[in-house]
Parts: sequence; structure tokens; C-alpha cells
Amino acid sequence: MRALRRFTVRATLPAPLQPLAQLVTNLRWSWHPETRDLFEALDPELWRTCGGDPVKVLGEVSAERLATLAKDRRFLRRLQDVVDDLQEYMTADLWYQSLGADAPQSIAYFSAEFGITEVLPQYSGGLGILAGDHLKAASDLGVPLIGVGLLYRAGYFEQGLSADGWQLEHYPSLDPHGLPVKLLRDKDGAAVVISVPLPEARTLHAHVWRAQVGRVSLLLLDSDIEENAPAERLVTDRLYGGDEDHRLRQEMLLGIGGVRALRAYCSQTGRPQPEVFHANEGHAGFQGVERIRELTVSHGLTFPEALQAVRGGTVFTTHTPVPAGIDRFPKALIERYFAGFGVPLDQLLALGAEEDPTKFNMAHMGLRLGQRANGVSELHGQVSRHMFRDLWPGFDEDDVPITSITNGVHAATWTARELVELGTQRSSQGDPAEVEGPVHFDGVDAIAAGELWNTRRLLRGRLVDEVRRRLRETALSRGAVESEVGWTDSAFDPDVLTIGFARRVPSYKRLTLMLKDPERLKALLLDPERPIQLVIAGKSHPADDGGKQLIQRMVQFADDPEIRHRIAFLPGYDIGMARYLYWGCDVWLNNPLRPLEACGTSGMKAALNGGLNLSIRDGWWDEWFDGQNGWAIPTADGVADPDRRDEVEARAIYDLISTQVQPRFYERDRDGVPARWVEMVRHTLRETGPKVLASRMVRDYVQQLYVPASYSARAMADGGGYAPAREEAARRMHLLANWGTVRVAHVEATGAGDTPEIGSTLALRAEVELPGLSPSDIEVQAAYGRVDDADALHGVTTIPMDHEQADGSRHWFTATVPLERTGAFGYTVRVLPRSAHLANPAELGVVTSA
Ligand SMILES: *Cc1c(COP(=O)(O)O)cnc(C)c1O
Repeated sequence: MRALRRFTVRATLPAPLQPLAQLVTNLRWSWHPETRDLFEALDPELWRTCGGDPVKVLGEVSAERLATLAKDRRFLRRLQDVVDDLQEYMTADLWYQSLGADAPQSIAYFSAEFGITEVLPQYSGGLGILAGDHLKAASDLGVPLIGVGLLYRAGYFEQGLSADGWQLEHYPSLDPHGLPVKLLRDKDGAAVVISVPLPEARTLHAHVWRAQVGRVSLLLLDSDIEENAPAERLVTDRLYGGDEDHRLRQEMLLGIGGVRALRAYCSQTGRPQPEVFHANEGHAGFQGVERIRELTVSHGLTFPEALQAVRGGTVFTTHTPVPAGIDRFPKALIERYFAGFGVPLDQLLALGAEEDPTKFNMAHMGLRLGQRANGVSELHGQVSRHMFRDLWPGFDEDDVPITSITNGVHAATWTARELVELGTQRSSQGDPAEVEGPVHFDGVDAIAAGELWNTRRLLRGRLVDEVRRRLRETALSRGAVESEVGWTDSAFDPDVLTIGFARRVPSYKRLTLMLKDPERLKALLLDPERPIQLVIAGKSHPADDGGKQLIQRMVQFADDPEIRHRIAFLPGYDIGMARYLYWGCDVWLNNPLRPLEACGTSGMKAALNGGLNLSIRDGWWDEWFDGQNGWAIPTADGVADPDRRDEVEARAIYDLISTQVQPRFYERDRDGVPARWVEMVRHTLRETGPKVLASRMVRDYVQQLYVPASYSARAMADGGGYAPAREEAARRMHLLANWGTVRVAHVEATGAGDTPEIGSTLALRAEVELPGLSPSDIEVQAAYGRVDDADALHGVTTIPMDHEQADGSRHWFTATVPLERTGAFGYTVRVLPRSAHLANPAELGVVTSA
């Protein structure tokens, strides 16, 4: 018989052990070794069988064991120490508190997925893990962030393999009562219920679960509750499952329900309502629409007025350099779902307008709702400015107002404890979070090469043990019998150069590029003197049969008895498996189709552990490859035929491995240490380590985006009356309505003579016609720089021109341009809108050039 439902009956904690209940609900244990040690000490054997999940351990530990510990003075002292440490962590003044009271007191961070620990499987890949690392680093820095997401009852799928290597998906059924989350309740103890209107007079209800991530609260909405009709109960069933309708309902719950959950949570707890709203990718875009609706109701603002107020405090991060990866809905679907929502439909539709008039584009909405926007690496910033340039017509790509903040990873989560304890993350400059400018982990200089190498070997050995365990388990699950899996006991070798490749399996990541020349790969694996071993993992989206075929090819290749002791595809890639890989791999391989990897973070995690990257120069690696922290795979960018491009790039990988990687790894000194290899490891830890930190990333977000956004939001609200928002909306409407009449009629230059010399100046005088506008509405700029054969300007400098004279609607502006460089020089004059409330001159997307 199958059970209808399952749950865990816990032993009651004896009074002296009560603090354990508090420790287990604060997910800081997931990155705090001393807290984990304490849970392990509860029952070391159980800790092992529960896979290091303290929630499970607490659920299963026997009452007798608890009774013993409740009288164990040493254990109780340890418990008290850990509790005190958490208390200190929760209340101390940290970096953010040094910014003063003017910094925003509350910031909301929306994401469709959060990867915090494998115990809370609410993520599919990089986007979610980044969101988790963002929360953890914000907590470490004292940033008053509140996360908002959904609680998926089946999370993302668990991956298995069939006998012939086809991906199998299994959806676990998560009971929130068995997760480290707490239900948000009102003063009377009743569960808070959030409601979102749906078409045909239906309503979607949700409960709010709160996960505590250090100092940061994460609110997760859950629609699987009795108040809902059966269809609505399923809205939060799975991450990225279902059709468009289902996805739209999820995104409405995330955005609209998320804002409502925040309102409820802040008023329950007395925390200030957020001033800044950060949307991590387009999925959460409806949060802005809900905030607009709120202001139209509470303050009687019109939609455009409310939009001005909301934009100021909104930050949007785009993660998708692949146009096909952008989240879009049929416009008709939006019309149906928002017909009765309470905002003018045409204005809402305009937010998501794109090239295809039948589509509603969530990224475009994100950019129109967020006054500040960014990509996630320098290269991705550039790609995004290109991809979204049509939203700012008339501007050069470089002027498109999308900046970049390069992703980072949470060191305490991803670094092997042994390395941290050796001192690989110490800096004589102080805590990297508090130092402006480049930081070096120079503590690594004090570690002897032999010691560093021994630790790397230890971690490689731990990975090998884990690979053997998983190989065995996988072989059995694919139908092998005990007598056939003996080979897994000696598969892999703790002294063989170990290369890792693990990530989701969309086609641009090219899982099977390394199989381009199978014989060549085989030769590398079986090299008698200098072999390599390869650990591979990754999930394909359940609806992507192409991805599953790639996995199958890989699995079948690795099944070959001749090489299976040197190459393994391990199913079930998740945070729990990933850690072993980042700790133990010598080389981290990444071969995306440039520039389709927005940032990539797995290579950063490898680098924090002294792993050397072997990667296409894409995402973060384009920025921080420095010649000593690994190898750059040359790209065949210009080659149009994809097959040919793969061939060229695959060959480059084989060549790099055989001519650079293998020799360096196997070249040993008298003590058996590969000195030159260890120097690269040391360099990576020292120089790349401090760059890839999530604390650096969050600090960049605070300084470059959150603080300025809070100022904009406050300027618009002006104490709550929103007068500036009203004025600004009117002003922008007037500007845009009349912009077509602006014309640069004439420009003349005097002063430099026929053959200008360096050091002289050019007097520019421009006549501008402004029939519908006044000079205070605009800024006239002289733009100048080097000029190429096609008259395109490069390295442009702009200076404002002064209003000199007016005659009716004709105005004259002047500026003096210095001639500071020799060579071809060009200039032009352009007119831009002017407003104190612009974060960027390109913001309104209008410009008129001479
Ligand atoms: C870091 C990480 C990712 C993202 O890695 P990318 O390099 O960005 O593809 C995905 N899954 C897990 C489990 C991770 O730890």
C-alpha cells in the first residue's frame, strides 16, 4: 500500500536542547562549519546517513540520545557557544551599518528560484544559486535585504538515468513542515493568506513560508493550500514546469503576491517597507505593476505618475544573452489575465511591448520598470546593450543605459574548509568586503608548496571517493547487479589529473564538445604516463529532448569498459554534489559558445578552491583570465559553420590539455610536488579568489544601484506626497510629445584655422529649433573624439553647451572644444532631454543629433 501523505514525527527536544530548534531554522548552518559540527555531534552516524541535513537529523535522532545529550555538560557548553555566535552574527554592526542611516533601510530581492542548500531544493541552476549567494553575502555584510520567491512543492526534478543513458525525472514531494521554514502568521496565530485575482472572478491564494538565511528573511509563497480550488493549488507545483498559462500564474504570484507578502510581513514584524525593489531576471516583473496599482489606489496617481515613482526604486538584472531565452507571453494572455486587475491595460501592455506586436516581453518590461539595470559580467553588459539597443533608439550601443556588475560566489558556502583553515582567504589588507580597490589573498604566500599540494590531493581523494560511491549507486539504479559493480571500487585515482565539467545542459554550453574527436579524448584519458580523468554532471530541462540526447551520448561514451574508470557522467547534479567537484577538480572546463554564457559561476567556485580554469573567454573568464590562473581556449568566433567552429574549438581544447595542462601537472620536483602547477594554484587563490566573491558583488550592487535607487525613490515620493512623480510624469509626457519638433538647424566652428594644431581650441556655435519646448527642457552637448574613415566617432567626450541667445523658438548654444590629440578629429552636436530625475541621459530614449 502507498501512503497518501508522509510526515516526520519528531522527538520533543528536552529543555536544555531547545536552542537547537532555533539553530536549525537559521540556514546559516549551511555555511557555518561550527554549527554543522554541532549537528554532527548529535549523532555522527545519523549525520552521515542523512547526508549532512540537520533537519533530518533532528527529525530522526532518538529520544534516548537527546536525553543523554541534555545532561552532557560539554555538549551543552558547545551548544551555548554556537547559539551565542549566531546571536552575535545576527546583531553586530557590519559593513552596511557603516554606510549610515541614509542608506536604504529595507531592500526587496525577487527571484523565481533560490539555491541556498540542497535541503531546500528550490533552484534549477546558476540563476538560483546566484540568488542564494546574494542573500548569504547580503547577510554577511549586514545588508537589510528581504528575499521573495515561490515554494515549489516538487522543487526542480531529481535526475536519474535509464539503462541506455536517457535522463529520468523524478519529482520529490516536499512537505514544508519538514523543511527549515516557518509559516507567516498574523497576531492571532492564523496563517497569513495572500490573494491575487485571476480571470473569470477566480482568486489565487497563497501562504507565506519564511526561511531565515542568516540575517536575511526569505519569503516563499505556496499555493498548495485548502483555500484554493484544485487548479490553483497546482500553481506552485514545480519550478519551470507547465505551459504558458501556468508560468504566467506563477509569475503573477511571484510579482503581485510577492509584493503583498512583503507588505504583510513588514507590518507583522514592524520592519520598514522596502525602498528598493530588485528583480533578478524578468520573471518577477509584475512586482512593479503591483506597486503601480498600489499608488494609483493609495495616492490617486495616474499610471504614468505611479510609473515614475516606481521606476526610481527599481533595479533590474538581466541574465540572458540568448534572445530565445527571454521570457515572453502572448499579448492576448496578458490581456485576459489583467483585464480586471486595476491598471489601464494599454499602459500595462506598453511596458512589455517588443518587435513582435503579439508578444509581451518580460525583459522589456523589466527595463522599462527599472530606472537602473545591469548585466552580470562586463562582456554580458556589452551584449545586453546590443541586444536591447532598440529600446533606446538614436543612441550608440555604448550609451544604452545597462551597466554591469559581475557575479560572485559565496566563499563560505563553496570553499573547502581545509583551504580556509590553511589561510587561503586571508588578506593583510583586511576583510575584502571592507577594502576599497583590489584585494589580494596574500595569506596564501605563507603556505608551503608541499602543504598546498597535499591539501589539493586530499580534496581530490575525497572527490574520488564520492565518484566511486555515486558510480556504484548509479550502476545499480540502471539495472546492474552487485557482482557487476565491483569495478567502481577502483574507478578513478586520487593522483590523476582531474578535470570537471558540470552545468545545466542547454545547447550553448556544449556538453559534448569534448566528444568531437572521441579517439583523441580516449588517448588523453588512457595516456600511460600522464592520464586525465573527467567528472561530468548536469541536468537537461525536462522538455528539452535535444539536451537529453547530449547526456545520453555522454553516458554511452563513458559506459565503455575501456575508459569507464577515467570518465564518469554522474546524475543528480545539485549543490551537494557540486561542492565535491569544486573542491576536488584540478581543472574546471567550460566551453560555451561565446558570448552566450552571461557570466558563469561554477568556474569561480573552482578558483576559490585552487582549481585552474580551462575555458572559452566568455562571461567572467573574459574579464579575469590573467594568463596565470588557467588557460583560455581560443574561440573561432568568426567561423560561421557551427560544426566547423566546434571542430576548431574542440581541437584547441585537446591541444591545450596535451601541451600545457598535462605536462605542468605531471612535472614534479624532488619532493614530488608539481612546483609550477602549485604556483598557478597559489596565484589563482591569491588574485582571482578575492575578485569572485559574492560580498564584492553585493557591495557593488549596494553602492552602484541600491543606494542611488533609494535616493531616486525618495526624491519621487518626497515624503509621501509624490508631487515630484506627478511633475516628472507631466514633464516627460510634454517632452516626448514635442520631441519630434527639436532640430539642430546649423553648427558652425571657428577659431582653429585651416590647419588646427594641438593645444588650440574650437569654438562651436549651434542653432537649435525648439518650437514646442524651452531651453530648460533640454541639454545641448558638443560630442567629439577620434573619427574613423566612415566618420564614426570613437572615445567620445561630451561637454554641455551654454545657452547664448534666443529669437522666438530659435536658440543658440556655444561651447569651446579643446584639441588635445593629434590625428583625425570629429565633432557633432546633440540635443538630449534634461531632468534632475534622470539616472542616465539616454533614459528617455530620445536624442536629436546635428
Ligand atoms: C554554480 C552552480 C551552477 C551554475 O554554474 P554555471 O557555471 O553558471 O553554469 C549550477 N548548478 C550548481 C549546482 C552550481 O553549484
